Amino acid sequence: MNRSEQLFQEAQQCIPGGVNSPVRAFRAVGGTPVFFEKAQGAYTFDADGKRYIDYVQSWGPMIVGHSHPEVIAAVIEKLQLGLSFGAPTEIETQLAGKLCNLLPGMDMVRFVNSGTEATMSAIRLARGFTGRDKIIKFEGCYHGHSDSLLIKAGSGALTMGVPSSPGVPEALAEHTITLNYNDIAGVEQAFSEIGEQVAGVIVEPVAGNMNCVPPIPGFLECLREQCDKFGSVLIIDEVMTGFRVSHTGAQGHYGVQADLTTLGKVMGGGMPVGAFGGKREIMEYIAPLGPVYQAGTLSGNPVAMAAGLKTLELISVDGFYEPIFKRTEALVNGLKERAAAAGIPFTTNHVGSMWGGFFTEAEQITNFQQVMDCDGERFNQFFHGMLSEGVYLAPASYEAGFMSAAHTDEDIQETLNAAERVFAKL
Ligand code: PMP
Repeated sequence: MNRSEQLFQEAQQCIPGGVNSPVRAFRAVGGTPVFFEKAQGAYTFDADGKRYIDYVQSWGPMIVGHSHPEVIAAVIEKLQLGLSFGAPTEIETQLAGKLCNLLPGMDMVRFVNSGTEATMSAIRLARGFTGRDKIIKFEGCYHGHSDSLLIKAGSGALTMGVPSSPGVPEALAEHTITLNYNDIAGVEQAFSEIGEQVAGVIVEPVAGNMNCVPPIPGFLECLREQCDKFGSVLIIDEVMTGFRVSHTGAQGHYGVQADLTTLGKVMGGGMPVGAFGGKREIMEYIAPLGPVYQAGTLSGNPVAMAAGLKTLELISVDGFYEPIFKRTEALVNGLKERAAAAGIPFTTNHVGSMWGGFFTEAEQITNFQQVMDCDGERFNQFFHGMLSEGVYLAPASYEAGFMSAAHTDEDIQETLNAAERVFAKL
């Protein structure tokens, strides 16, 4: 038994499923989850000391690479001054100012402790601001695990949503409408029928929780247009895309501006941080200025802020993104070539440093149904093959991959060599 197997057995005694977030348990791909001990740059090291080239990047945050010396130094400097005060600190304003400078349309921002809290709070704010209850979301998008967002589509596009987890009241689910991602006609239809009841639309501007699915041209623009027409709040969930697809987020990349933006992952540099922000008139609806309540004992934690601020300084340096985007492209093109050479139907998507591979005959993947139709068994074999080769991919086929600034051309080559051997065995 290796150390991960041993640790997993122990963990299962006192932690449900042995993990603190379900996907970590490897249920989708089978086998024992790898327990990690440390990470440096592009690599993670497991409890037995085995090295992996890491394309999970803690599910997105580590774009400057793991344990970046400047981030670590900023954190150490801050934590020596005290871990938490539950009172305002200067660094919160510094990070807030940085976010407002970088993101188009962000006038004010409030910090929370996770992406889930960010989207949950943004939804409440949209409802409070508009005085309406209905929320539109899209199938295959994930916005964290708050009640209003753990909802799947009912039988028809415009039927009331149904809870996707026991514990979510049906009475709440009926206020969430789930439409198809990239379905412009579906959005227009929904708004034409119930637009005046819609508090807000929440969307992943590049879907990264159904593998990696970019918006088709016109999709985000249509959301902006319909929200404007009906006075609904457009919430662009940039928890994953923020500072992944450009230094101005997906909104800068696609030229579509939200009313409210939610953030997490990269902006916290690997610490538990999230944020929601946007138009001043909406943000002033939040307590203590306005009537919509939202709070947090550890929100704006100075140590977490230090990791986030340093990370955002590093990504703001001219030319930071080009090499990462080039390597992402080299990786997906290389994977496609090697799959083709092995006679395996396979395609890819990528935007900036987000990418995904699909075991499918389809040439292009643009929606949830196509993702569901991919060959999951083949992905699982590929995942385990790559894992034993020392390449760590997300342990489920519905997750985007991530490139960091620490990945080198040699890492890409090593990954492609491994993929060639694994494809040959599939
Ligand atoms: N929104 C998006 C787009 C996400 O990808 C995630 C997490 N993967 C969340 C929200 C929830 O964030 P957290 O896990 O930090 O609660």
